[in-house]
Amino acid sequence: MTEIALNAPEMFDLSGRVAFVTGAGSGIGQRIALGLAQCGADIACLDRRTDGGLNDTVGLIEGAGRKAISIAADVTSKTALTDAVAKTESDLGPLAISVNAAGIANANPAEEMEEEQYQSLMDINMKGIFLSCQAQANAMLRHGKGSIINIASMSGIIVNKGLDQVHYNASKAGVIHMSKSMAMEWVSRGVRVNSISPGYTATPMNTRPEMIHQTKEFETQTPMGRMASVNEMVGPAIFLASDASSFCTGVDLLVDGGFCCW
Ligand code: NAP
Repeated sequence: MTEIALNAPEMFDLSGRVAFVTGAGSGIGQRIALGLAQCGADIACLDRRTDGGLNDTVGLIEGAGRKAISIAADVTSKTALTDAVAKTESDLGPLAISVNAAGIANANPAEEMEEEQYQSLMDINMKGIFLSCQAQANAMLRHGKGSIINIASMSGIIVNKGLDQVHYNASKAGVIHMSKSMAMEWVSRGVRVNSISPGYTATPMNTRPEMIHQTKEFETQTPMGRMASVNEMVGPAIFLASDASSFCTGVDLLVDGGFCCW
């Protein structure tokens, strides 16, 4: 044996680190923000509305004994993101981790989709990820280290049966490849960039009452026979945020209950 490894649980310890999570007021982003805090990080929680759960996220993190700040901002604004990162560093300390989960979904047949519907989704799901990474990396590159995790989707790899969402699918394929491209630009400067591609996950995005028939379909189509809980996105995020993944960059981690195997 050439080298004795760090105590394995310590590899997942995020004590003393500062994380920035977009889409932190709901669903996957909210649960990951709390999970990172439970591993020791202080968290800047960003979402576009303060009445959409952001205050709950801050309360949960403070309840876990960590510091949290709440930032209401839109990920389509470069200035808002630059200001948000600056506020994070002045209130909490040097930025070490980011998780970009802000996103939207909607559907319409491709031949009927208005340009506005296409563009507004692309602005949030793709440009929003680019601008978030840019603002975060500008801080991390100054420090010579950092881990960025973008929430993509299995829809960036497969086409969801029965869902007419060409713009969503294309945006998520874009997020996966954007993450790999940025990972290579920053690979020698200490900043890692990876993505997580969830399968169908029970969140406000897709558990609205009018979607009940669709959610049954989602369960049937998934080899594990169910949708993921938001809790099941936490372990993958902690892995990619922490030193446990120190040799991983440019990876897309599929968390899909086996969906892409079929
Ligand atoms: P969610 O519960 O709707 O959470 C997304 C959050 O992002 C919401 O609070 C939303 O605010 C916010 N947001 C939207 N646009 C924003 C903007 N321009 N600026 C700042 N915040 C914004 O959805 P989720 O299911 O957790 O989704 C999180 C991410 O996972 C998304 O990128 C989604 O595409 C991805 N994903 C989800 C699933 C799934 O099955 N749920 C599967 C694969 C991938 P509003 O409520 O105001 O829109």
